Amino acid sequence: MPDQGDATGGTQGTGGARPAPPAVRVEGLWKRFGEQVAVAGIDLELPAGQFIGLVGPNGAGKTTTLSMVTGLLRPDMGRIMVAGHDVWADTVEVKSRIGVLPEGLRLFERLSGRELLGYMGRLRGLPGEETDKRATQLLDVLDLAGSQHKLVVDYSTGMRKKIGLAAALLHNPEVLFLDEPFEGVDPVSAQTIRGVLERYTASGATVVFSSHVMELVESLCDWVAVMAAGRIRAAGPLADVRGSAPSLQAAFLELVGAQGRGAAGDSLEWLGGAAAQS
Ligand code: ATP
Repeated sequence: MPDQGDATGGTQGTGGARPAPPAVRVEGLWKRFGEQVAVAGIDLELPAGQFIGLVGPNGAGKTTTLSMVTGLLRPDMGRIMVAGHDVWADTVEVKSRIGVLPEGLRLFERLSGRELLGYMGRLRGLPGEETDKRATQLLDVLDLAGSQHKLVVDYSTGMRKKIGLAAALLHNPEVLFLDEPFEGVDPVSAQTIRGVLERYTASGATVVFSSHVMELVESLCDWVAVMAAGRIRAAGPLADVRGSAPSLQAAFLELVGAQGRGAAGDSLEWLGGAAAQS
């Protein structure tokens, strides 16, 4: 079982045990796509054993950051440690300790959900019997048991998220990275996913997920990092980032400099006049 971090997001273990390394430590991380700077030199430390939200407006650099942290996209510069191991130097070790639900998840479409989990378990080196046991439990808890023999290509968006989550959890990773895990998911499935993730973090594991939905982040997360224009604008325990603002949403709008936007002023004066003209 992963080491448990303390509630303040520190790296100290309990009872005099060896200090747990942070779940993620990022130093001087940069990524550019041509002229576009997607990630502009971020430093970030995410504590172990927490439910962590990475939030930011469209194009902030969340997916690019998560892709680099999970070893899917090579940074231009910077160092990334996950669970005490260098992501780009110690790739196999890191990949064995993490689970990933990436954006635009590509799955093996011509396998059934059950076969997909069987295959992923074997890829992860789990014995067949253990894989089957865990697959049965995950399919059950995620309400996919009835669709386990359907081909993944025939799954709905929400079902794809759930089978992707099951595949990411199968080897009981120390750190789970989820890019927009609740997008396109109905409220019942969202509640199911939430229950699974809460149980997982209660055991001392870490979840890092990106989202635009502040209410969700506020209700789920212990710890948040706010990103805008490729930089980290704030990071810390939820209450610290929220500060004196009435909600995380209000704090977020202030941090990303978006207060007052939405009142489009005169620029859309033509919009909505159709009824009046006719
Ligand atoms: P969203 O919330 O809309 O998913 P995000 O915070 O995840 O946004 P990214 O997808 O990381 O943002 O994008 C950050 C910036 O990098 C954007 O300006 C985007 O256009 C650019 N970008 C990302 N991937 C590429 C790519 N493969 N090629 C070119 N530009 C890219």
